[in-house]
Amino acid sequence: MNSEATIAYFSMEIGFSNNIPTYSGGLGILAGDTLKSAADLKIPLVAVTLISKKGYFRQDIDKDGKQIEYPIDWDPSKFMTLLPKKIEIKIEGRNVHVQAWCYKVQSITGGEVEVFYLDTDVEENIKEDREITAHLYGGDDCYRLKQEVVLGIGGVRMLHTLGFHIKKYHMNEGHASLLTLELLLTHKRDVESVWDERWIWDIDTVKDLCVFTTHTPIEAGHDRFSHELVKRVLGEIVPFELLKRLGGEYQLNMTLLALNLSKYINGVAKKHGEVSKALFPGYEINAITNGVHSFTWTCESFKQLYNKYITGWANEPELFVRAETIPDEELWKAHLQAKNELINYIKKVSGVEIEQDVFTIGFARRFTSYKRADLIFSNLERLSKICEKGKFQIIFAGKSHPKDTPGKDIIKRIIDLAKTIDNKVKIIFLKDYNIEMALKLVSGVDVWLNTPLRPREASGTSGMKAAHNGVINFSILDGWWIEGHIEGITGWSIGPKPLESSLTSTNDTVDAEDLYNKLENIIIPMYYHDRSQWIKIMKNSIGKIAYYFNSHRMMRRYVTEAYLR
Ligand SMILES: *Cc1c(COP(=O)(O)O)cnc(C)c1O
Repeated sequence: MNSEATIAYFSMEIGFSNNIPTYSGGLGILAGDTLKSAADLKIPLVAVTLISKKGYFRQDIDKDGKQIEYPIDWDPSKFMTLLPKKIEIKIEGRNVHVQAWCYKVQSITGGEVEVFYLDTDVEENIKEDREITAHLYGGDDCYRLKQEVVLGIGGVRMLHTLGFHIKKYHMNEGHASLLTLELLLTHKRDVESVWDERWIWDIDTVKDLCVFTTHTPIEAGHDRFSHELVKRVLGEIVPFELLKRLGGEYQLNMTLLALNLSKYINGVAKKHGEVSKALFPGYEINAITNGVHSFTWTCESFKQLYNKYITGWANEPELFVRAETIPDEELWKAHLQAKNELINYIKKVSGVEIEQDVFTIGFARRFTSYKRADLIFSNLERLSKICEKGKFQIIFAGKSHPKDTPGKDIIKRIIDLAKTIDNKVKIIFLKDYNIEMALKLVSGVDVWLNTPLRPREASGTSGMKAAHNGVINFSILDGWWIEGHIEGITGWSIGPKPLESSLTSTNDTVDAEDLYNKLENIIIPMYYHDRSQWIKIMKNSIGKIAYYFNSHRMMRRYVTEAYLR
């Protein structure tokens, strides 16, 4: 055990690889990339998450375009070791026993990060409690609260039992904020007689220990639990008056709890920092823009290219600034190789054959309304006319949360539409989006599309992955893209530039119109008729985007701006 570690990173989900299906989307992938960079950079850090033994879910799509969810049965013992130590937490008045699986993220640099996956599937527990760590984001409010109790309170106890002396607790989103209550309990002032109850709670010490990263730019996105439910599940571990003061008068708001008990708070892109400030007035909110793990998100042919021209890139992605030294022909060859890989992959998983010399657009991420996957279908007539300028095809993938009916409707809509315009534009929906598929897509398409409703995309990261493979971004100016975008140089924007930090949203029609115009008049003509200009933008994606939007840079900033403060 690396009990030297002094920083503990808490995340409800972590996505390292397809084999460990304990992630649902960007939040989990970011956590995985964070930990890989921490290992590469030898940052003294450990992580805590839940084992999610049934995973998020495996997605199937029936012939009518309806999403069907299956639990994933995976065996943690293939990848990690179950530690013998157990801790207990009182949930609904019962003692729930929690064990941890230890997974080691090992870097080629010799660095290592241990990850503890908490598991309540322990013999001593009753059946109901054994299920608490089974389904990521499954069940009702009560189930979710129990999971957050295990993550936050159980996590701190487990680290303590394992012998760690943690100096910073980093909450990746509000799911883990109950850890602050456990810290309040362990740092209670030891005074004989207090004339003021409040005095025994050492809030400042707890604040010094905590770092909070928020990821959700809208009020409705934050976890909240009724006080009644909290009382039933958790009891009164701290006096309710105190809990109300820290976490909300009417409901326990997990974001508020984390805000009130963290000294350092940040959003995940500059814009998101501003939006969060407006959302939570009175708090000092910083911004550290997300990044992706360069080695993980670079495909094989580009790894070879970088090894040849940008030696040392994987542990020093700043070197991508020298992307211009890569010869055009070799860059294009590497891209065609990646595109071929994708074509073979699509054939393998879906049986569909697509052509290599056709301009290909990729869109893959969680399917939820604000991501507007169907924006490109706003005007079908227009879309099929654009095809006359040059053929193109679009590949989609993504899961909807089982309870997200509008998200599922978008999947169905796309699958239905695909049938109606198949003779003009080939539309493919790949089922069961996952990490392996993500790498194939972000490296194998020609353009990576993102059309979220502003300002809902706190950061977004898949476009950064695309840039690592010379794939060009074409996106709404929201999240990270506001910082990465230089029109016509690093890629293209869609819709107006955001000026205000308010929550005013964009207009679907205006955005779609701009998307069509650029596709028709700039992007498709350039792809087919000005290959050298196209390659220039590919190189800029590497040299002006990947060099900055990587998790090595992000982690160095967390260390200097959050952990060492
Ligand atoms: C990167 C990634 C995401 C996040 O994509 P965004 O476009 O940032 O929302 C989601 N799922 C998987 C599997 C990913 O690899």
